[in-house]
Amino acid sequence: MPDFSIGVDLGGTNLRIAAVSLQGQLLEKVTFGSKVSPRDRVIDEMCAAIQMLSDRYRGTGTLLGTGIGVPGIIDLHTGTMRKSANLPGWENYPVQAAIERRVGARIVLENDAKMAALGEQWLGAARGIANAAMVTLGTGIGGAIVLDGKIWHGMNGMAGEFGHVTLEPDGPICGCGNHGCAEKYASASAIIRMAREAIASGEAPALAQVADSDPEFGAQSIYHLALQGDEPAQQIFRTFGRYLGILLAGMVNVLNLDMFVIGGGVASAWDVFAPRMFAELRQRSIVYAATALEDRLRRDATGGDGAAQTDGRREPQTIITRALLGRDAGLYGAARLASGSSNS
Ligand SMILES: [Zn+2]
Repeated sequence: MPDFSIGVDLGGTNLRIAAVSLQGQLLEKVTFGSKVSPRDRVIDEMCAAIQMLSDRYRGTGTLLGTGIGVPGIIDLHTGTMRKSANLPGWENYPVQAAIERRVGARIVLENDAKMAALGEQWLGAARGIANAAMVTLGTGIGGAIVLDGKIWHGMNGMAGEFGHVTLEPDGPICGCGNHGCAEKYASASAIIRMAREAIASGEAPALAQVADSDPEFGAQSIYHLALQGDEPAQQIFRTFGRYLGILLAGMVNVLNLDMFVIGGGVASAWDVFAPRMFAELRQRSIVYAATALEDRLRRDATGGDGAAQTDGRREPQTIITRALLGRDAGLYGAARLASGSSNS
């Protein structure tokens, strides 16, 4: 049995805990619901599962550590959850100390989107890419910047809040207090808001019908309507792609990283929002237009100035791509961080 670490992904809906080998093999995963559970019960279940997995796999391998990804802004110095939109009752809770006391060992705490970025860099889309950013499209927007294989935390751990970049100065008010934040346009909750507005206009009969009949009405059902060719549903995803493209264009211009990974549940609607997203990127980012592979190929084909092979070296490209690990990205990232192999 190999050396291993334990990764925990505490989400607004589910709590998932896994033992992962140092080589990246998933040894075992357990899942609990976290949505309606009170905080202390979630902590109890988490600690019991950590104990169970560490006892089970410690026999033949060394437990290298435990990493926990949490949905919210955390104070890295005190291990306290400062703000969490998806976990009411956790604000200002000293989550790290509470867990360490119960499991009797040090843990590493990190924001969940940052854990997902580490996971994608270890085993997913950004494997082998030292400098990358990740945008996680879920209920809101999470983000992370990885430089030289390490999370860029900024001054106090708050770097990477792409979801709260202003895209419309007078747009809808955001939970953060600002107006027109990116996550008001390019998240699952934004998709639902736009669908409700389309229904209220009276010009989206298919959306109205699904909203009435589907108790689980959400971004997924709107995506299915778009796939079936419903114009109002497709328009919602074009709007989504437009704003995501505007956000990414700014990120590419500012950061000029090798790769931007798009993850989170809504990334599965890639087919219906990506064309518009790429169109915005090409139009709005001078850095993207100069470094996108497709544009360079086009220039070469027309005998333009963009010889892709100048002196035998591959010219750098900006790659914007989907995440590969799905819901497990955060688990892998947490295990990786805990193993000490990523010292971010
Ligand atoms: Zn905001």
